[in-house]
Amino acid sequence: MLYELNRQNDMKKESIGKFLGREFLVSRESHIDDTVITVGEHHIGEGFSIIAGPCSVENEEQIFSLAKIMKSKGADFLRGGAYKPRTSPYDFQGLGEKGIKMLTEAGRNAGLPVVSEILDPRDLEIFKDVDILQVGARNMQNFPLLRAVGKSKKPVLLKRGQGSDIREFLLSAEYIMAEGNPNIILCERGIKTFETVTRSTLDLSSIPVLKKLTHLPIIVDPSHATGYSELVEPMALAAAACGADGVMIEVHTNPKLALCDGEQAQNPEEFEETVIKIKKINRALFE
Ligand code: PEP
Ligand code: MN
Repeated sequence: MLYELNRQNDMKKESIGKFLGREFLVSRESHIDDTVITVGEHHIGEGFSIIAGPCSVENEEQIFSLAKIMKSKGADFLRGGAYKPRTSPYDFQGLGEKGIKMLTEAGRNAGLPVVSEILDPRDLEIFKDVDILQVGARNMQNFPLLRAVGKSKKPVLLKRGQGSDIREFLLSAEYIMAEGNPNIILCERGIKTFETVTRSTLDLSSIPVLKKLTHLPIIVDPSHATGYSELVEPMALAAAACGADGVMIEVHTNPKLALCDGEQAQNPEEFEETVIKIKKINRALFE
């Protein structure tokens, strides 16, 4: 039966719908209508939202020019990491506070609200002008961070952990909501499987499953899910077709020179083409 899962502890089959019953704030049963998160003039969870920008803020010139380009090509939000959760401590770690300043100023200049990843609850003050706080895949079960962004009341983009199932994903969202913050956007970004050809395996079935289980909006990140720019467009289109509320796409003006994740970055022309096709899918299926 759909939505049955084996709980690891007792291997007893249990319906996740029942598990996430009325007492859970994230559960569809506790809130029948879709949650819509309003940021400026944008409504996430109503229509289709496009978040785009570089993996990392690299310098002023890069983020200011990219912000304007993203706006002109159809993005609703500008992304850019300043605190990067890199696997190796010797890789580029981001520009930190300076990077956050550059991002918020570039967003304001281009007329785009901004999204950036927070790694440490002690940095919340630095993120005061960031419109959406991103909690990355590696921190999906960092419970003190979840509680802190929950207390902040700012919109939170919560990414699915690379080794986390849907129940764990929803319970992490519950941590945020239990602190009184209902402004949560879930983000499917792929999970680790035995497949090595792609960076992760994009679990697109989580979209219709989550739509059934929760009232929260859910977007897809086809960039980290696949790891290769040529795979970003087909997966972004598939995300739109299966009912996602938006996508988050990494874009760089010169992907070969990117300080982080260049292989998966689209250039602005590729991004523009993808946005045009997403609009066609949405028109054909949902209007
Ligand atoms: C990111 O979006 O910058 C990022 C690091 O992604 P993830 O947490 O999904 O790996
Ligand atoms: Mn990245």
